[in-house]
Amino acid sequence: MPNPCHSIGFCPICGDGLCGIRIYKSDDDSTYGLIVCDECDAVWTEPDLTAKPYFPDTEDERSPIDGQPIWGVSSHWADLRECALLGWLGNIDPILHCHGQQPADDDPLDSPAAMDNSLQRSLDNHRMAPPDIDNDEKTS
Ligand SMILES: [Zn+2]
Repeated sequence: MPNPCHSIGFCPICGDGLCGIRIYKSDDDSTYGLIVCDECDAVWTEPDLTAKPYFPDTEDERSPIDGQPIWGVSSHWADLRECALLGWLGNIDPILHCHGQQPADDDPLDSPAAMDNSLQRSLDNHRMAPPDIDNDEKTS
């Protein structure tokens, strides 16, 4: 499974999956969110991991809301703006995703896109940088 963009916690069912926020588009153009574990596919309809999850049929995984496929084309892992749209911004665990801290509470929609870009660049730079273990050993 692809990694979620934003997760609300580790999966209480399988223990090491991430409970990612996924956004779905219904036939009537409305959108809704689901929490989906990227490992065991447990599904929550609200960002509350203490609630009992829904387990889709492993042969044909479908949304408990409108029956569309869990991993279908009209859904994807929600980005920060979409998490805000769902009202679930406050449920994101900032430690579990790679886009940095969530924006300040007072203006959740002000700069998520710009923030994502700059953080993504710094993450890319970090990945490309050679390991500096040798330097650390020499100086210490
Ligand atoms: Zn799980």
